[in-house]
Amino acid sequence: MRALRSVVQFLFLGGTVALLLRGLAGVTTNTCESYCPFGGLVAIFPLAKHGGYACALTELNVALFVSLVGLALLSKKSFCSWICPLGTVQEWIGRGGRKLFGRACRDGGGGTAKRVYRRVPRKADRWLVLVRYAVLIAIPVLTYTVWQYDLGFRKYDPFYILFTWGGHETAAFSFYVVIGVLAAAFFLPFAWCRYLCPLGAAMDPLSRAGGLRLRRNTETCTDCGACDAACPHAIPVSSYNEVTAHNCTNCMECAEACPEKGTLELSWFGK
Ligand code: SF4
Ligand code: SF4
Repeated sequence: MRALRSVVQFLFLGGTVALLLRGLAGVTTNTCESYCPFGGLVAIFPLAKHGGYACALTELNVALFVSLVGLALLSKKSFCSWICPLGTVQEWIGRGGRKLFGRACRDGGGGTAKRVYRRVPRKADRWLVLVRYAVLIAIPVLTYTVWQYDLGFRKYDPFYILFTWGGHETAAFSFYVVIGVLAAAFFLPFAWCRYLCPLGAAMDPLSRAGGLRLRRNTETCTDCGACDAACPHAIPVSSYNEVTAHNCTNCMECAEACPEKGTLELSWFGK
């Protein structure tokens, strides 16, 4: 499954980089922004009120957002670990960070020492994850008020800045935003997704209901905890019979790490 996921990630990241290169070469005026589902969410209010789109947003953004809602209901936040190019870049950087900076630990399958992700202390983490909801509310509100229906968020958006290489309306400090996000991903897996991403926040309630979810076979599970250590989103997998956590992306890293093969498997509503 990891190989298949890597291929899918590579294709979406490659397509986004190809779009960037075509833009830099002047072959197209399209940017990654044209394919951003979060733009569809931002577009909904002006569309409902005025029947028009804010700034560069189009019906494609809305269609992608609606598709993402459907995908989240089907398969939780699989968009984040299978499709999102910023998620892919963060994941690869995070793996490097884990190898160099991770906490040494013994796995459940025979005591081999390996490196696992470091975590933010649970209490701080509980508060920090709420920042995403503030970002989710702030961006549309600022877009319709302070920014006068312009996409003023561009200069703070690591996805837009990185994959347009400092495109329209970015600022001198914008690259520092990207450097900060990627550096954070080195020390904390998916730091942007976990604490700041407004699209991830919008998906939370849908993801919790998502039908395709991991099921843990309690008869073969030995409670070794290898799955908990492997999850880049700090989900306590071994405490679930079926993983309904809103931040599960169906990346299957926990199943890869499980020494009892077949104990963690994808299921439809836990059946
Ligand atoms: S619980 Fe498993 S599938 Fe879900 S995010 Fe964590 S490692 Fe990935
Ligand atoms: S599901 Fe697998 S990795 Fe997780 S505690 Fe059980 S045996 Fe260990």
